[in-house]
Amino acid sequence: MSNIETIVIIGAGQAGASAILELRGSKFEGKIILIGDEAHLPYERPPLSKDVILKPDETKVEILSEEKLAALGVEHIRGNGAVKINPEAKTVELQKGDVIAYDKLLLATGGAARRLPNFDALGQHVYTLRNLEDSQALVPVLQAGQRIVLIGGGVIGLELASSARFKDCQVTVIEMGPMVMGRSSPRILSEFLLAQQRLAGVDVRLSSSIAGCRLEQNPQGEEVVISLEGGEELRADAVIYGIGIVPNAQLAAEAGLAVDVAIQVNEHGQTSNPDIYAAGDVATQLRADGQYRRVETWENANLQAGIFARHIMGIQHPAPNPAWFWTDQLDINYQFAGDMAAEEWIVRGEIQPEQRAASSFVLFGVTDGIIVGGITVNAAKEMRHLKKMIAKQAVFEAEKHLDLSLDLRKAA
Ligand code: FAD
Ligand code: NAP
Repeated sequence: MSNIETIVIIGAGQAGASAILELRGSKFEGKIILIGDEAHLPYERPPLSKDVILKPDETKVEILSEEKLAALGVEHIRGNGAVKINPEAKTVELQKGDVIAYDKLLLATGGAARRLPNFDALGQHVYTLRNLEDSQALVPVLQAGQRIVLIGGGVIGLELASSARFKDCQVTVIEMGPMVMGRSSPRILSEFLLAQQRLAGVDVRLSSSIAGCRLEQNPQGEEVVISLEGGEELRADAVIYGIGIVPNAQLAAEAGLAVDVAIQVNEHGQTSNPDIYAAGDVATQLRADGQYRRVETWENANLQAGIFARHIMGIQHPAPNPAWFWTDQLDINYQFAGDMAAEEWIVRGEIQPEQRAASSFVLFGVTDGIIVGGITVNAAKEMRHLKKMIAKQAVFEAEKHLDLSLDLRKAA
Protein backbone atom coordinates (compact mmCIF):
# COMPACT_ATOMS: atom_id res chain seq x y z
CA MET A 1 0.00 0.00 0.00
CA SER A 2 1.62 3.18 -1.18
CA ASN A 3 0.59 5.46 1.72
CA ILE A 4 2.67 3.50 4.26
CA GLU A 5 6.09 5.09 4.41
CA THR A 6 7.53 3.83 7.68
CA ILE A 7 6.99 0.59 9.55
CA VAL A 8 8.53 0.39 13.01
CA ILE A 9 9.05 -3.00 14.67
CA ILE A 10 9.69 -3.15 18.41
CA GLY A 11 11.51 -6.36 19.36
CA ALA A 12 14.39 -7.83 17.34
CA GLY A 13 13.58 -11.49 18.05
CA GLN A 14 11.87 -14.25 16.06
CA ALA A 15 8.68 -12.41 15.12
CA GLY A 16 10.48 -9.10 14.51
CA ALA A 17 13.08 -10.65 12.19
CA SER A 18 10.50 -12.76 10.41
CA ALA A 19 8.27 -9.71 9.85
CA ILE A 20 11.11 -7.99 7.99
CA LEU A 21 11.56 -10.97 5.65
CA GLU A 22 7.80 -11.21 5.11
CA LEU A 23 7.43 -7.48 4.41
CA ARG A 24 10.25 -7.40 1.88
CA GLY A 25 9.07 -10.72 0.42
CA SER A 26 5.65 -9.09 -0.09
CA LYS A 27 7.34 -6.15 -1.88
CA PHE A 28 7.03 -3.53 0.84
CA GLU A 29 9.40 -0.80 -0.36
CA GLY A 30 9.08 1.75 2.43
CA LYS A 31 11.30 2.30 5.44
CA ILE A 32 11.64 -0.40 8.12
CA ILE A 33 13.07 0.48 11.53
CA LEU A 34 13.80 -2.41 13.89
CA ILE A 35 14.14 -1.48 17.57
CA GLY A 36 15.85 -3.95 19.90
CA ASP A 37 16.64 -3.66 23.58
CA GLU A 38 19.31 -6.36 23.26
CA ALA A 39 22.78 -5.55 21.93
CA HIS A 40 22.65 -8.48 19.47
CA LEU A 41 21.56 -8.99 15.92
CA PRO A 42 18.20 -10.83 15.81
CA TYR A 43 18.71 -14.42 16.98
CA GLU A 44 16.61 -17.50 17.56
CA ARG A 45 16.00 -19.03 20.95
CA PRO A 46 15.49 -22.79 20.38
CA PRO A 47 19.27 -23.53 20.50
CA LEU A 48 19.63 -21.70 23.84
CA SER A 49 18.58 -24.71 25.90
CA LYS A 50 20.37 -27.19 23.66
CA ASP A 51 23.31 -26.53 21.31
CA VAL A 52 24.47 -23.20 22.78
CA ILE A 53 25.08 -25.14 26.02
CA LEU A 54 26.37 -28.36 24.47
CA LYS A 55 28.38 -26.97 21.53
CA PRO A 56 28.91 -23.29 22.37
CA ASP A 57 31.72 -22.78 19.85
CA GLU A 58 29.94 -24.30 16.86
CA THR A 59 26.43 -22.98 17.33
CA LYS A 60 25.10 -20.05 15.33
CA VAL A 61 21.86 -18.44 16.47
CA GLU A 62 21.74 -15.32 14.28
CA ILE A 63 18.63 -14.97 12.08
CA LEU A 64 19.73 -11.86 10.15
CA SER A 65 23.33 -10.74 9.72
CA GLU A 66 24.37 -7.10 9.53
CA GLU A 67 24.90 -7.48 5.77
CA LYS A 68 21.48 -9.04 5.30
CA LEU A 69 19.78 -6.26 7.30
CA ALA A 70 21.61 -3.69 5.17
CA ALA A 71 20.64 -5.51 1.98
CA LEU A 72 17.01 -5.49 3.14
CA GLY A 73 17.26 -1.76 3.81
CA VAL A 74 16.51 -2.05 7.52
CA GLU A 75 17.63 0.47 10.10
CA HIS A 76 18.45 -1.60 13.19
CA ILE A 77 18.63 0.20 16.52
CA ARG A 78 20.29 -2.05 19.11
CA GLY A 79 20.54 -1.87 22.89
CA ASN A 80 18.04 0.97 23.00
CA GLY A 81 14.60 -0.39 23.79
CA ALA A 82 11.25 1.33 23.40
CA VAL A 83 9.92 2.86 26.62
CA LYS A 84 6.73 4.52 25.43
CA ILE A 85 4.26 4.47 22.56
CA ASN A 86 2.23 7.57 21.79
CA PRO A 87 -0.63 6.29 19.60
CA GLU A 88 -2.05 9.79 18.94
CA ALA A 89 1.24 11.21 17.66
CA LYS A 90 2.16 7.77 16.16
CA THR A 91 5.59 7.86 17.76
CA VAL A 92 7.77 5.57 19.84
CA GLU A 93 10.12 6.87 22.50
CA LEU A 94 13.38 5.02 23.16
CA GLN A 95 15.35 4.48 26.34
CA LYS A 96 18.04 6.92 25.22
CA GLY A 97 15.47 9.62 24.46
CA ASP A 98 15.09 9.33 20.65
CA VAL A 99 11.55 9.67 19.28
CA ILE A 100 10.67 7.68 16.16
CA ALA A 101 7.59 8.18 14.00
CA TYR A 102 5.66 5.31 12.43
CA ASP A 103 2.81 4.79 10.01
CA LYS A 104 2.34 1.19 11.20
CA LEU A 105 3.83 -0.35 14.30
CA LEU A 106 4.48 -4.01 15.14
CA LEU A 107 4.93 -5.06 18.76
CA ALA A 108 7.09 -8.19 18.84
CA THR A 109 8.46 -7.91 22.35
CA GLY A 110 8.16 -11.59 23.37
CA GLY A 111 8.07 -12.54 27.02
CA ALA A 112 10.20 -12.72 30.14
CA ALA A 113 10.77 -15.63 32.52
CA ARG A 114 8.15 -15.69 35.29
CA ARG A 115 10.01 -14.95 38.51
CA LEU A 116 10.30 -16.80 41.80
CA PRO A 117 11.19 -13.89 44.11
CA ASN A 118 12.34 -16.07 47.03
CA PHE A 119 14.92 -17.77 44.79
CA ASP A 120 15.96 -14.47 43.14
CA ALA A 121 16.52 -13.08 46.66
CA LEU A 122 19.30 -15.63 47.21
CA GLY A 123 21.32 -13.52 44.77
CA GLN A 124 23.62 -16.34 43.64
CA HIS A 125 23.48 -19.88 42.21
CA VAL A 126 19.99 -19.23 40.77
CA TYR A 127 19.34 -18.96 37.02
CA THR A 128 16.54 -18.57 34.46
CA LEU A 129 16.72 -18.95 30.67
CA ARG A 130 15.28 -16.58 28.11
CA ASN A 131 18.13 -14.85 26.27
CA LEU A 132 21.60 -15.54 24.90
CA GLU A 133 23.41 -14.25 28.01
CA ASP A 134 21.26 -16.52 30.21
CA SER A 135 22.27 -19.50 28.09
CA GLN A 136 25.96 -18.60 28.00
CA ALA A 137 25.90 -18.18 31.78
CA LEU A 138 24.80 -21.81 32.12
CA VAL A 139 27.80 -23.22 30.23
CA PRO A 140 30.21 -23.03 33.20
CA VAL A 141 27.44 -24.02 35.65
CA LEU A 142 26.52 -27.29 33.93
CA GLN A 143 29.76 -29.14 34.64
CA ALA A 144 30.20 -32.86 35.40
CA GLY A 145 29.20 -33.82 38.93
CA GLN A 146 27.41 -30.55 39.71
CA ARG A 147 24.11 -30.97 41.55
CA ILE A 148 21.51 -29.13 39.48
CA VAL A 149 17.93 -28.63 40.61
CA LEU A 150 15.51 -27.60 37.87
CA ILE A 151 12.24 -26.08 39.02
CA GLY A 152 9.44 -26.63 36.49
CA GLY A 153 8.96 -29.76 34.39
CA GLY A 154 7.91 -27.85 31.27
CA VAL A 155 9.86 -27.59 28.01
CA ILE A 156 12.69 -25.53 29.53
CA GLY A 157 13.00 -27.89 32.50
CA LEU A 158 13.11 -31.04 30.37
CA GLU A 159 15.40 -29.66 27.66
CA LEU A 160 17.82 -28.37 30.31
CA ALA A 161 17.63 -31.68 32.19
CA SER A 162 18.66 -33.36 28.94
CA SER A 163 21.55 -30.94 28.33
CA ALA A 164 22.67 -31.24 31.96
CA ARG A 165 22.71 -35.05 31.77
CA PHE A 166 24.75 -34.87 28.55
CA LYS A 167 27.23 -32.87 30.66
CA ASP A 168 27.12 -35.53 33.43
CA CYS A 169 25.47 -33.33 36.03
CA GLN A 170 23.35 -34.81 38.83
CA VAL A 171 19.88 -33.57 37.94
CA THR A 172 16.63 -33.23 39.87
CA VAL A 173 13.44 -31.78 38.35
CA ILE A 174 10.72 -30.45 40.64
CA GLU A 175 7.34 -30.22 38.95
CA MET A 176 4.33 -28.85 40.76
CA GLY A 177 1.76 -30.60 38.55
CA PRO A 178 1.09 -34.34 38.18
CA MET A 179 2.83 -34.68 34.79
CA VAL A 180 5.78 -33.24 32.84
CA MET A 181 5.11 -30.88 29.93
CA GLY A 182 1.52 -30.90 31.11
CA ARG A 183 0.70 -27.66 29.30
CA SER A 184 1.71 -28.88 25.87
CA SER A 185 1.60 -32.66 25.79
CA PRO A 186 -1.09 -35.34 26.20
CA ARG A 187 -0.66 -37.75 29.09
CA ILE A 188 0.45 -40.71 26.95
CA LEU A 189 3.42 -38.74 25.60
CA SER A 190 4.11 -37.07 28.94
CA GLU A 191 4.55 -40.53 30.48
CA PHE A 192 7.07 -41.41 27.76
CA LEU A 193 8.96 -38.13 28.32
CA LEU A 194 9.05 -38.84 32.05
CA ALA A 195 10.32 -42.38 31.49
CA GLN A 196 13.11 -41.04 29.24
CA GLN A 197 14.25 -38.56 31.88
CA ARG A 198 14.24 -41.22 34.59
CA LEU A 199 16.07 -43.75 32.39
CA ALA A 200 18.71 -41.07 31.81
CA GLY A 201 19.18 -40.77 35.57
CA VAL A 202 17.15 -37.62 36.20
CA ASP A 203 15.33 -37.59 39.54
CA VAL A 204 11.92 -36.20 38.55
CA ARG A 205 9.56 -35.22 41.38
CA LEU A 206 5.95 -34.75 40.32
CA SER A 207 3.18 -33.02 42.32
CA SER A 208 5.96 -31.53 44.38
CA SER A 209 5.79 -28.06 45.93
CA ILE A 210 8.57 -25.96 47.35
CA ALA A 211 8.24 -24.64 50.89
CA GLY A 212 11.40 -22.53 51.02
CA CYS A 213 15.03 -22.03 50.06
CA ARG A 214 18.24 -20.77 51.66
CA LEU A 215 21.99 -20.64 51.13
CA GLU A 216 24.29 -22.70 53.33
CA GLN A 217 28.04 -23.13 53.56
CA ASN A 218 29.46 -26.60 53.04
CA PRO A 219 33.15 -27.62 53.01
CA GLN A 220 33.27 -27.14 49.20
CA GLY A 221 31.61 -23.72 49.24
CA GLU A 222 28.06 -22.46 49.14
CA GLU A 223 25.02 -24.55 48.30
CA VAL A 224 21.31 -23.90 47.86
CA VAL A 225 19.01 -25.83 50.18
CA ILE A 226 15.51 -26.32 48.82
CA SER A 227 12.88 -27.54 51.23
CA LEU A 228 9.87 -29.32 49.83
CA GLU A 229 6.38 -29.40 51.31
CA GLY A 230 6.50 -32.54 53.44
CA GLY A 231 9.87 -31.71 54.93
CA GLU A 232 12.45 -33.18 52.54
CA GLU A 233 15.48 -31.00 51.76
CA LEU A 234 17.42 -31.04 48.48
CA ARG A 235 20.93 -29.58 48.18
CA ALA A 236 22.14 -28.05 44.93
CA ASP A 237 25.17 -26.31 43.46
CA ALA A 238 22.78 -24.42 41.19
CA VAL A 239 19.04 -23.97 40.74
CA ILE A 240 17.53 -23.15 37.33
CA TYR A 241 13.86 -22.39 37.14
CA GLY A 242 11.54 -22.43 34.11
CA ILE A 243 8.00 -21.88 35.30
CA GLY A 244 6.54 -20.17 32.26
CA ILE A 245 6.70 -16.65 30.84
CA VAL A 246 5.04 -13.29 31.33
CA PRO A 247 4.39 -11.51 28.00
CA ASN A 248 6.22 -8.16 27.63
CA ALA A 249 2.94 -6.26 27.20
CA GLN A 250 3.59 -3.25 29.47
CA LEU A 251 4.21 -0.79 26.61
CA ALA A 252 0.92 -1.76 25.01
CA ALA A 253 -1.02 -1.56 28.27
CA GLU A 254 0.41 1.88 29.04
CA ALA A 255 -0.54 3.02 25.53
CA GLY A 256 -4.16 2.07 26.26
CA LEU A 257 -4.30 -0.98 23.94
CA ALA A 258 -6.50 -3.94 24.90
CA VAL A 259 -4.35 -6.28 26.98
CA ASP A 260 -5.35 -9.21 29.20
CA VAL A 261 -2.05 -10.78 30.17
CA ALA A 262 -0.95 -10.48 26.54
CA ILE A 263 -1.83 -8.02 23.75
CA GLN A 264 -5.16 -8.89 22.18
CA VAL A 265 -5.11 -9.02 18.37
CA ASN A 266 -7.71 -9.88 15.74
CA GLU A 267 -7.33 -12.40 12.91
CA HIS A 268 -5.09 -9.92 11.04
CA GLY A 269 -2.80 -9.32 14.01
CA GLN A 270 -4.22 -5.85 14.69
CA THR A 271 -4.52 -4.62 18.26
CA SER A 272 -7.39 -2.43 19.45
CA ASN A 273 -5.58 0.39 17.57
CA PRO A 274 -5.69 -0.52 13.84
CA ASP A 275 -2.26 1.02 13.13
CA ILE A 276 -0.60 -1.12 15.80
CA TYR A 277 -0.10 -4.87 15.41
CA ALA A 278 1.36 -7.52 17.70
CA ALA A 279 2.91 -10.92 16.94
CA GLY A 280 4.63 -13.82 18.71
CA ASP A 281 4.74 -14.65 22.42
CA VAL A 282 3.38 -11.22 23.38
CA ALA A 283 0.16 -11.59 21.35
CA THR A 284 -3.07 -13.38 22.16
CA GLN A 285 -5.10 -13.86 19.00
CA LEU A 286 -8.86 -14.07 18.50
CA ARG A 287 -9.66 -17.58 17.19
CA ALA A 288 -12.55 -18.97 15.19
CA ASP A 289 -14.21 -20.18 18.43
CA GLY A 290 -14.38 -16.59 19.72
CA GLN A 291 -11.66 -17.14 22.35
CA TYR A 292 -8.27 -15.39 22.57
CA ARG A 293 -5.30 -17.77 22.65
CA ARG A 294 -1.56 -17.25 22.97
CA VAL A 295 0.85 -19.70 21.37
CA GLU A 296 4.46 -19.63 22.56
CA THR A 297 6.31 -21.31 19.68
CA TRP A 298 8.92 -20.48 17.06
CA GLU A 299 6.48 -21.33 14.28
CA ASN A 300 3.71 -19.14 15.67
CA ALA A 301 6.08 -16.15 15.84
CA ASN A 302 6.87 -16.63 12.14
CA LEU A 303 3.23 -17.28 11.23
CA GLN A 304 1.91 -14.15 12.97
CA ALA A 305 4.71 -12.07 11.45
CA GLY A 306 3.48 -13.27 8.04
CA ILE A 307 -0.13 -12.43 8.90
CA PHE A 308 0.96 -8.89 9.86
CA ALA A 309 2.97 -8.35 6.67
CA ARG A 310 0.23 -9.64 4.38
CA HIS A 311 -2.41 -7.49 6.04
CA ILE A 312 -0.20 -4.41 5.66
CA MET A 313 0.25 -5.23 1.96
CA GLY A 314 -3.41 -6.10 1.36
CA ILE A 315 -2.64 -9.73 0.52
CA GLN A 316 -5.05 -12.46 1.61
CA HIS A 317 -3.82 -14.93 4.22
CA PRO A 318 -3.55 -18.56 3.08
CA ALA A 319 -5.40 -21.16 5.18
CA PRO A 320 -3.21 -21.71 8.26
CA ASN A 321 -1.43 -25.03 8.74
CA PRO A 322 -2.12 -26.93 11.97
CA ALA A 323 -0.06 -25.44 14.83
CA TRP A 324 3.34 -27.16 15.12
CA PHE A 325 6.28 -27.22 17.49
CA TRP A 326 9.14 -29.49 18.42
CA THR A 327 11.39 -30.34 21.32
CA ASP A 328 14.71 -32.23 21.37
CA GLN A 329 15.51 -34.17 24.52
CA LEU A 330 18.05 -36.93 25.20
CA ASP A 331 18.68 -37.54 21.48
CA ILE A 332 14.97 -37.90 20.74
CA ASN A 333 13.16 -35.52 18.41
CA TYR A 334 9.49 -34.88 19.26
CA GLN A 335 7.15 -32.98 16.96
CA PHE A 336 3.60 -31.95 17.78
CA ALA A 337 0.86 -30.75 15.41
CA GLY A 338 -2.75 -29.72 15.87
CA ASP A 339 -4.89 -30.19 18.97
CA MET A 340 -3.09 -31.68 21.99
CA ALA A 341 -6.42 -31.90 23.83
CA ALA A 342 -7.75 -34.61 21.48
CA GLU A 343 -10.21 -37.05 23.09
CA GLU A 344 -8.02 -40.11 22.56
CA TRP A 345 -4.48 -40.87 21.43
CA ILE A 346 -3.77 -43.91 19.28
CA VAL A 347 -0.28 -45.33 18.70
CA ARG A 348 1.13 -46.31 15.32
CA GLY A 349 4.09 -48.57 16.10
CA GLU A 350 5.07 -49.43 19.62
CA ILE A 351 5.91 -47.33 22.64
CA GLN A 352 9.04 -48.91 24.11
CA PRO A 353 10.56 -46.43 26.55
CA GLU A 354 13.49 -48.74 27.36
CA GLN A 355 14.67 -48.40 23.74
CA ARG A 356 15.51 -44.79 24.63
CA ALA A 357 16.98 -42.90 21.64
CA ALA A 358 16.17 -45.82 19.33
CA SER A 359 12.43 -45.32 20.06
CA SER A 360 10.27 -44.34 17.12
CA PHE A 361 6.49 -44.10 16.88
CA VAL A 362 3.59 -41.89 15.83
CA LEU A 363 0.54 -40.82 17.84
CA PHE A 364 -2.81 -39.90 16.29
CA GLY A 365 -5.01 -37.53 18.29
CA VAL A 366 -8.62 -38.35 17.50
CA THR A 367 -11.83 -36.53 18.46
CA ASP A 368 -15.23 -37.78 17.28
CA GLY A 369 -13.46 -40.11 14.83
CA ILE A 370 -11.54 -37.26 13.17
CA ILE A 371 -7.73 -36.84 13.24
CA VAL A 372 -7.22 -33.52 15.04
CA GLY A 373 -3.68 -33.90 16.36
CA GLY A 374 -0.47 -35.80 15.74
CA ILE A 375 2.87 -36.43 17.42
CA THR A 376 6.01 -37.99 15.96
CA VAL A 377 8.76 -39.44 18.13
CA ASN A 378 11.97 -39.83 16.16
CA ALA A 379 9.76 -40.02 13.08
CA ALA A 380 10.06 -36.50 11.69
CA LYS A 381 9.46 -37.55 8.12
CA GLU A 382 5.89 -38.58 9.02
CA MET A 383 4.99 -35.11 10.34
CA ARG A 384 4.19 -33.70 6.89
CA HIS A 385 1.61 -36.46 6.33
CA LEU A 386 0.07 -35.99 9.78
CA LYS A 387 -0.30 -32.25 9.20
CA LYS A 388 -2.08 -32.97 5.91
CA MET A 389 -4.52 -35.35 7.60
CA ILE A 390 -5.22 -32.85 10.38
CA ALA A 391 -5.74 -30.01 7.89
CA LYS A 392 -8.25 -31.99 5.87
CA GLN A 393 -9.98 -33.35 9.00
CA ALA A 394 -9.42 -36.91 7.83
CA VAL A 395 -11.45 -39.71 9.41
CA PHE A 396 -9.23 -42.00 11.50
CA GLU A 397 -9.15 -45.53 10.02
CA ALA A 398 -7.23 -48.04 12.15
CA GLU A 399 -6.61 -50.53 9.31
CA LYS A 400 -5.14 -47.79 7.12
CA HIS A 401 -3.34 -45.65 9.67
CA LEU A 402 -1.91 -48.24 12.06
CA ASP A 403 -0.62 -50.79 9.54
CA LEU A 404 3.14 -50.30 9.52
CA SER A 405 3.41 -51.99 6.12
CA LEU A 406 1.37 -49.13 4.64
CA ASP A 407 3.05 -45.84 3.88
CA LEU A 408 1.53 -42.90 5.81
CA ARG A 409 2.19 -40.72 2.76
CA LYS A 410 -0.39 -42.71 0.84
CA ALA A 411 -2.91 -42.50 3.68
CA ALA A 412 -2.62 -38.70 3.87
P1 FAD B 1 11.48 -13.25 21.21
O1 FAD B 1 12.15 -14.16 20.23
O2 FAD B 1 11.73 -13.45 22.66
O3 FAD B 1 11.87 -11.74 20.82
C1 FAD B 1 11.41 -10.63 21.53
C2 FAD B 1 12.48 -9.56 21.51
O4 FAD B 1 11.92 -8.32 21.92
C3 FAD B 1 13.63 -9.85 22.48
O5 FAD B 1 14.87 -9.62 21.86
C4 FAD B 1 13.39 -8.85 23.61
O6 FAD B 1 14.57 -8.51 24.30
C5 FAD B 1 12.84 -7.68 22.80
N1 FAD B 1 12.14 -6.65 23.57
C6 FAD B 1 11.31 -6.80 24.63
N2 FAD B 1 10.86 -5.60 25.05
C7 FAD B 1 11.40 -4.65 24.24
C8 FAD B 1 11.32 -3.23 24.17
N3 FAD B 1 10.58 -2.54 25.02
N4 FAD B 1 12.02 -2.60 23.20
C9 FAD B 1 12.78 -3.29 22.32
N5 FAD B 1 12.89 -4.63 22.34
C10 FAD B 1 12.21 -5.31 23.29
N6 FAD B 1 9.90 -22.93 20.32
C11 FAD B 1 9.78 -24.02 19.54
O7 FAD B 1 8.81 -24.12 18.77
N7 FAD B 1 10.70 -25.04 19.60
C12 FAD B 1 11.77 -24.99 20.43
O8 FAD B 1 12.60 -25.92 20.47
C13 FAD B 1 11.92 -23.84 21.27
N8 FAD B 1 12.94 -23.76 22.13
C14 FAD B 1 13.06 -22.67 22.94
C15 FAD B 1 14.12 -22.61 23.85
C16 FAD B 1 14.23 -21.54 24.71
C17 FAD B 1 15.36 -21.50 25.69
C18 FAD B 1 13.29 -20.49 24.67
C19 FAD B 1 13.43 -19.30 25.61
C20 FAD B 1 12.24 -20.53 23.77
C21 FAD B 1 12.12 -21.63 22.89
N9 FAD B 1 11.05 -21.74 21.99
C22 FAD B 1 10.93 -22.82 21.18
C23 FAD B 1 10.03 -20.68 21.91
C24 FAD B 1 10.36 -19.64 20.83
O9 FAD B 1 11.73 -19.33 20.84
C25 FAD B 1 9.54 -18.38 21.08
O10 FAD B 1 8.18 -18.74 20.98
C26 FAD B 1 9.88 -17.27 20.09
O11 FAD B 1 11.19 -16.82 20.30
C27 FAD B 1 8.92 -16.11 20.23
O12 FAD B 1 9.32 -15.09 19.37
P2 FAD B 1 9.02 -13.55 19.74
O13 FAD B 1 9.57 -12.74 18.63
O14 FAD B 1 7.63 -13.39 20.15
O15 FAD B 1 9.89 -13.29 21.05
P1 NAP C 1 6.14 -23.98 30.46
O1 NAP C 1 6.30 -24.88 29.31
O2 NAP C 1 4.90 -23.18 30.60
O3 NAP C 1 6.35 -24.90 31.74
C1 NAP C 1 6.44 -24.41 33.05
C2 NAP C 1 6.25 -25.61 34.00
O4 NAP C 1 6.58 -25.21 35.31
C3 NAP C 1 4.83 -26.11 34.02
O5 NAP C 1 4.86 -27.53 33.98
C4 NAP C 1 4.31 -25.61 35.36
O6 NAP C 1 3.34 -26.45 35.92
C5 NAP C 1 5.55 -25.66 36.20
N1 NAP C 1 5.54 -24.76 37.35
C6 NAP C 1 4.97 -23.53 37.45
N2 NAP C 1 5.22 -23.00 38.66
C7 NAP C 1 5.98 -23.91 39.34
C8 NAP C 1 6.56 -23.95 40.65
N3 NAP C 1 6.42 -22.92 41.47
N4 NAP C 1 7.23 -25.07 41.03
C9 NAP C 1 7.39 -26.11 40.18
N5 NAP C 1 6.85 -26.13 38.92
C10 NAP C 1 6.18 -25.05 38.51
O7 NAP C 1 7.30 -22.88 30.54
P2 NAP C 1 8.88 -23.03 30.47
O8 NAP C 1 9.29 -24.45 30.42
O9 NAP C 1 9.39 -22.13 31.54
O10 NAP C 1 9.21 -22.37 29.07
C11 NAP C 1 9.22 -20.95 28.93
C12 NAP C 1 9.02 -20.54 27.50
O11 NAP C 1 10.01 -21.08 26.66
C13 NAP C 1 7.70 -20.99 26.95
O12 NAP C 1 7.22 -19.94 26.14
C14 NAP C 1 8.06 -22.17 26.11
O13 NAP C 1 7.14 -22.37 25.07
C15 NAP C 1 9.41 -21.76 25.59
N6 NAP C 1 10.23 -22.94 25.24
C16 NAP C 1 9.79 -23.76 24.26
C17 NAP C 1 10.51 -24.87 23.93
C18 NAP C 1 9.99 -25.77 22.86
O14 NAP C 1 8.93 -25.50 22.31
N7 NAP C 1 10.72 -26.83 22.53
C19 NAP C 1 11.69 -25.16 24.58
C20 NAP C 1 12.11 -24.33 25.61
C21 NAP C 1 11.35 -23.21 25.92
P3 NAP C 1 1.78 -26.16 35.69
O15 NAP C 1 1.54 -26.32 34.22
O16 NAP C 1 1.15 -27.21 36.53
O17 NAP C 1 1.54 -24.75 36.13
